[in-house]
Amino acid sequence: MTFDYAPAPESRSVVDIAPSYGLFIDGEFVDPIDGATFKTVNPATEEALAEVTEAGPLDVDRAVRAARTAYRTTWSRMPGSERAKYLYRIARLIQERSRELAVLETLDNGKPIRESRDVDIPLAAAHFFYHAGWADKLEYAGYGTRAYGVAGQVIPWNFPLLMLAWKIAPALACGNTVVLKPAETTPLTALAFADICRQADLPPGVVNIVTGDGATGRALVEHPDVDKVAFTGSTEVGRQIQRAVAGTRKGLTLELGGKAANIVFDDAPLDEAVEGVVNGIFFNQGHVCCAGSRLLVQESVADEVLDALKRRLSTLRLGDPLDKNTDVGAINSAEQRARIEELVRAGDDEGAERWSAACALPERGWWFPPTVFTGVTQAHRIAREEIFGPVLAVLTFRTPDEAVEKANNTPFGLSAGVWSEKGSRTLWMASRLRAGVIWANTFNRFDPAAPFGGYKESGFGREGGRQGLAAYLRTEG
Ligand code: NAD
Repeated sequence: MTFDYAPAPESRSVVDIAPSYGLFIDGEFVDPIDGATFKTVNPATEEALAEVTEAGPLDVDRAVRAARTAYRTTWSRMPGSERAKYLYRIARLIQERSRELAVLETLDNGKPIRESRDVDIPLAAAHFFYHAGWADKLEYAGYGTRAYGVAGQVIPWNFPLLMLAWKIAPALACGNTVVLKPAETTPLTALAFADICRQADLPPGVVNIVTGDGATGRALVEHPDVDKVAFTGSTEVGRQIQRAVAGTRKGLTLELGGKAANIVFDDAPLDEAVEGVVNGIFFNQGHVCCAGSRLLVQESVADEVLDALKRRLSTLRLGDPLDKNTDVGAINSAEQRARIEELVRAGDDEGAERWSAACALPERGWWFPPTVFTGVTQAHRIAREEIFGPVLAVLTFRTPDEAVEKANNTPFGLSAGVWSEKGSRTLWMASRLRAGVIWANTFNRFDPAAPFGGYKESGFGREGGRQGLAAYLRTEG
């Protein structure tokens, strides 16, 4: 039986997008000194949403100076219990403005409203609540209480407000001030957050938002008066940043790419595992650093799992991200879709077998159907490189040893999933998998109390939990 769904679009009228935005420096929106402008676009419609400033080096310098002054004159002098009040206030304002933020995120990013409403925005608020609790208890965390000073933070486009929260909440809790650069394709929720800082009466200069592309990011990372660099993004840019920071006293944390294995054993509850595989790779169109982009399925149940998976994928609804029925939204940019297409062509050329869910793609905007590759070998590019899109590479295994060997055969080490009825097997696997986060019988679960981060080319440092505080406290001389 098939069902027809009446569209249930969220109202766009809950957001008020200005025609143009300046930079948020020293507590106010200012015009750039040496910046240009660019348009931010709705990827589902290609409609320009607003004109945004591309900050130049002088603008970045002005933001860093504002952050330095705020650090010296207010923030570093304030007791943790007072800083906590600001963090709690910000958390409550995110909750109060959650509907507006969710719609704005979906318009600018292309992700389904269901996800921005139920995952991104509540988790962003949760990060501020969690870190507010730490602000006056830092001496119990075990990393001292000495802040770095000014943190320069650069984030990607896949979870714009959530990545901002992961960066700003711990930095402020530990007593640092911040200059943050959002990704060029998704600046709008960071600019709305600037307004939240104003609403919360955060002292001017404690949080500064400079929009722009990689050149703005580079100017921030290389600024001599930045004490700590925190970056989330691609491994390639992470390498450039590590080189730029080498030989300075700057602290550095890097949260980079991934190629996670989602490992399904034959004793797993298979219906649940299939749901977990779908969530693992098709959540947020696969634009997830820890996405379960490699399915490792035990040979004895491979056919059964693949049949169920394809049946389930055929029921996913792709389309208007503002529609509350939508499961799969738009690809964030034309460049990202071109990258996905290039790797998918490589999969075809290398002889893997491609299957895509039959779904009509809207005429405007950037889209890619949920896609599964079978017959994949470990040497294939689609098994080794991060596709960062709704594309799953399926490999099989016979024994737990083989599953471990294949799961670890990657330059990355961010996350993994294990699906099995046996706790002892899950623990055995977890002790052998080289990944920062391992989920058991679930996938893509996040909690501010749980540290998140990678090994190998997935970066270093942790975000969230007690361990995440270490990234924002100077522990050495
Ligand atoms: P990207 O590296 O191209 O860009 C990330 C950010 O860095 C953007 O704000 C960009 O403007 C800026 N940037 C680009 N060049 C720079 C430079 N030379 N110096 C300073 N900043 C520069 O990555 P992306 O395409 O926006 O994001 C996708 C990548 O992010 C994927 O590889 C994904 O796995 C990764 N990611 C990792 C995590 C994690 O926690 N490990 C989380 C989300 C995304």
